[in-house]
Amino acid sequence: MKRKFKIAAAAIAAMMVFTACSGEKGDADGKIAVSTTINPVHQIVTMIGGDKVEVSRMVPAGSEAHDFEPTIRDMETLSKSKILFISGLGMEPWADKAKETTGAKDLVTAVLSDGMDLIPLGEEDHEEGEEEEHGDYDPHVWLSLDGMIRMAENAEKALSAASPENAEYFRKNLDEFRKEAIALKEEYLPKFEEYQGKAFVTGHAAFGYMCRELGLVQMSVEGPFQEGEPTPKKMEELINFAKENGIKTIFLEEQASPKVSETLAKEVGAVTETLNPLESEGDLLQTMKDNYDKILKSME
Ligand SMILES: [Zn+2]
Repeated sequence: MKRKFKIAAAAIAAMMVFTACSGEKGDADGKIAVSTTINPVHQIVTMIGGDKVEVSRMVPAGSEAHDFEPTIRDMETLSKSKILFISGLGMEPWADKAKETTGAKDLVTAVLSDGMDLIPLGEEDHEEGEEEEHGDYDPHVWLSLDGMIRMAENAEKALSAASPENAEYFRKNLDEFRKEAIALKEEYLPKFEEYQGKAFVTGHAAFGYMCRELGLVQMSVEGPFQEGEPTPKKMEELINFAKENGIKTIFLEEQASPKVSETLAKEVGAVTETLNPLESEGDLLQTMKDNYDKILKSME
């Protein structure tokens, strides 16, 4: 269950002190100070920004990305940043409030999922009372190569706007990443051709964009916002689905509920394997490749 975002009065008082002292943004080497959130946002901004940017990461590696709340230290760092890069679509429901609390009026938010062809969420993907926090679309846009490329383009645009003198440098980094991502896509898309419409079972519903790109279908133990364990009815549906579709591998994620996935696997006589949704760690392109290989292997 998600908790509502709260900042204690003490934290706000502390923030006022930070704001008063923060002064000029950017460090002594003339680098642009920016803040990032989840792993894909952090990696993309670090890669495009290169040595022209001082990047702080708010959602730490290995944490549950959907359950993050900023600390006072995060807020202090944020108050000194010129740009806050977020993925958007409900991945960072705390961001607006955090930004407001810093009192930093010239802090720009760059939403890396902007301009994408989004996957709408169904009724069943929402928990009661959570709609306002979560939005209407699947937020896991980085789990497709086209999505990653668009995020990188958005990062490049925001960095170039903040630092026009380095625009050519950012563009070069973007071009390099785009070339690598397209090469990976060209290598793997044909491998999935014979599995069009095939299903795989995951821990939480993070792989919608990957499925759309590859022509696959995902069934998941938890919803897109990782709201906790499935109801007995949902569990029964999953068991029936897995049996009917001859599912031999149940994928799980370390940050989701691996125990439920393990129970499901036992119930249907399948093995378990991990997939990395990249939310909290993992090199972007290498992890995509690993995920592809594991899914391909499960479908052989
Ligand atoms: Zn997720």
